[in-house]
Amino acid sequence: MARKVCSFCGRSDKEVSLLITGVSGFICNDCAKAAYQIVQENTQARAGKGVAPFVLDELPKPRDIKEYLDHYVIGQDDAKRYLAVSVYNHYKRLAQQKDDDGVEIEKSNIIMVGPTGTGKTLLARTIAKMLKVPFTIVDATVLTEAGYVGEDVESILSRLLQVADYDVAAAERGIVFVDEIDKIARKSDNPSITRDVSGEGVQQGLLKLLEGSIVNVPPKGGRKHPDQEYVQVDTHNILFICGGAFEGIERKIAQRLNTHVVGFNSVQHTRNLDKENLMKYILPQDLKSFGLIPEIIGRMPVLTYLNPLDRDALRRILMEPKNSLVKQQIKLFAMDGIKLEFAPEALNYIVDKAVEYKLGARGLRSIMETLMMQLQYEAPSTHKRGEKIVITEEYARQQLENSLLKEAAES
Ligand code: ADP
Repeated sequence: MARKVCSFCGRSDKEVSLLITGVSGFICNDCAKAAYQIVQENTQARAGKGVAPFVLDELPKPRDIKEYLDHYVIGQDDAKRYLAVSVYNHYKRLAQQKDDDGVEIEKSNIIMVGPTGTGKTLLARTIAKMLKVPFTIVDATVLTEAGYVGEDVESILSRLLQVADYDVAAAERGIVFVDEIDKIARKSDNPSITRDVSGEGVQQGLLKLLEGSIVNVPPKGGRKHPDQEYVQVDTHNILFICGGAFEGIERKIAQRLNTHVVGFNSVQHTRNLDKENLMKYILPQDLKSFGLIPEIIGRMPVLTYLNPLDRDALRRILMEPKNSLVKQQIKLFAMDGIKLEFAPEALNYIVDKAVEYKLGARGLRSIMETLMMQLQYEAPSTHKRGEKIVITEEYARQQLENSLLKEAAES
């Protein structure tokens, strides 16, 4: 038998921590690691050089995308349609041949406006699962103008590079969801009398990325500094989806609607308005009144809205999505062999409480956790496999009130 030394570096089994035996030689742990790295770098370099163009026929159509979203997100049909079309067009743009006929499909960044907790981030996360391009979610609140505490806008692209495994060509066809874009709105109507560190300056920075330019990106994110290495990223083909609650924008919409409804048709016009949900009448100029600069608005030509969630929607959210809270609880108990059921009144009660706490769909989860805590603790010991537990309204009420009492006593 050959001497036990690594065939690559020549060290013996005494000198390395692991020596792997092959058919006619050995490799040590260090050389295996180095070899793996070389393979990785090579694959990435090759992938980066020529990302294959998309073949449209193989991609999900807008209807397919919406159907997929329907499994996870309740309602919000308009937003789903807009998103589905935007993503499909994004693929089309990536599939287009440059020298065809001079008609170049431009990108249409999209902005979704809707109250908090109505599914903006959920939509973005869900669509990400089916995308064929790199995708990342960034929060606009951490961005500040260069020179202030916070992150440069370019850090958005660092994140995209990271998810693309630093394959620049792949990142350049990616999609970025910018959450809480309303938080970088100009704070006052007077532009730049005082410094507006996290407002207009950041919008100007973001504008550069939205409209498409070549940007120097610090690969590890954070602040740019002079002796750092940069990666150049072209943002022409990166699709930006922005989302924000734009709290109070209904007032701006109402003002606009009131001032505009003068003249012959006005009476009829106002009568047909859905006053409970003015958001659906949102127009780009409302975003301007809210404090976004016109250039940014111009770069997000697709504007859509999300509806507030009513009782019916909340109840459906509790039960219907593929990984709904009810389904998750049932699964948790099923793993102990226990069959869990919820009485319809108990579900109504949970919805009532979510409405009362004004937390929207976000509240459903904490309510569910609170009222199931005790059972999750006890049942695995007290219940045998095959037994059944029904959550009644009375039980739900009792658990929630107990926990509130406990909280009150502790505070
Ligand atoms: P936001 O609009 O503030 O981004 P999120 O998408 O983060 O809200 O929603 C918070 C949570 O509420 C989600 O993780 C999800 O569990 C639930 N939720 C909100 N809206 C919906 C919806 N339309 N369908 C299903 N679940 C929803």
